[in-house]
Amino acid sequence: MAYFSAAELKLMADAGVIAPAITPEMLSYCRLRYALIGAGLLYSVLTLFALLHSGLARKLSDFCARLTRNKWLLVPLYYICLAVLIMLIRYPFSYLAGYQVEHSYGLSHQSLGEWLFDLIKARAVDAGLTALGFTIAFGLIDKFPKRWPVILWSVLVPLIAAGIFLAPLLIDPLFNKFTPMPAGPQRDGIERVAALSGIPNAAIFIVDKSRQTTKLNAYVTGLGSSTRIVIWDNTLQKLPQDQIEAIVAHEAGHYVLGHIVLGFALTSAGLVALLLSAQKLGPLFLSRLPVSWGIRGWTDPQAIPVILLFITVGSFIFAPVENAISREMERQADAFGLKVTKNPVAMARVFVSLSQQNLSEPAPPAIIQFWFFGHPSLRERILSALRPH
Ligand SMILES: [Zn+2]
Repeated sequence: MAYFSAAELKLMADAGVIAPAITPEMLSYCRLRYALIGAGLLYSVLTLFALLHSGLARKLSDFCARLTRNKWLLVPLYYICLAVLIMLIRYPFSYLAGYQVEHSYGLSHQSLGEWLFDLIKARAVDAGLTALGFTIAFGLIDKFPKRWPVILWSVLVPLIAAGIFLAPLLIDPLFNKFTPMPAGPQRDGIERVAALSGIPNAAIFIVDKSRQTTKLNAYVTGLGSSTRIVIWDNTLQKLPQDQIEAIVAHEAGHYVLGHIVLGFALTSAGLVALLLSAQKLGPLFLSRLPVSWGIRGWTDPQAIPVILLFITVGSFIFAPVENAISREMERQADAFGLKVTKNPVAMARVFVSLSQQNLSEPAPPAIIQFWFFGHPSLRERILSALRPH
């Protein structure tokens, strides 16, 4: 497949940018990843359906109800038991998508034991936070049957903000080691870019991502005083200085343009709409569920698998909206990075490096790109870096 036209190849060649080499290995890895996106979604939906339809979800809820009648304990207990059950059912898929495929393409050298430990930690953190969310939500719906959407929203929004603030301080260190950038020419260059971006005192950390993957990346995380730019150690080891600086300038763009705060504001706005429509449409859906599922109301712990089913399907339906917003932010960060470094060739070479090292084809099929990808295609990013602005 030709990803670039003759004119586009000439644009790259004139700038001294070598177009990404398309290998059969890259293509088969990409096809496999796309198939796994669909399979993962189907696996999740079928798992929840099977739990509801087989009566297993109901038996689990009866079992938990025998242990405690106190709803403040019953809801988290049921959710955690359910999360363990779902993790066990999903394990073959998690192993295939998260371990087997990455190892067979040489993209990870992590041992099975370490990978499994990371998976269990991630699921435990997720289960703990989601159990807390359900407990608060069910408690408030019971207490304020009419006004709960607004009350729940005003409780969840500060909790989400606290979560974004605390994630780099408490959660991320459970999986990786974060170290401040050591002194030297690499840090001097990065600090120069940060200063040019208007954030001379930005915290810049290195994460030992090489524990999990051979891929390259960097990101911005945190909120307020916990905000930081994090660069994967692989990126620092494998890329030349001008490309590292181009990546930092892109990440500084997210930082300076306030993309995390913007994302938080959009999430909060989406949450209002979600909670209000749940209040309006919830009873209507409830009356249409199969009687054999035995769900007595939305705050019945047994409704949790149904709510998870709605969240899974809803996330899939709204993914294009979320990803379109994300792609726009990425374009802004690319443009910001170019303005700071004034080095379009280095920026274009970053995207070529990402394509080669991460086995990412320059342009995924249009529908996959539209639905699932939060970044513009590497093809678009290479070309827009090189075209006159
Ligand atoms: Zn970005």
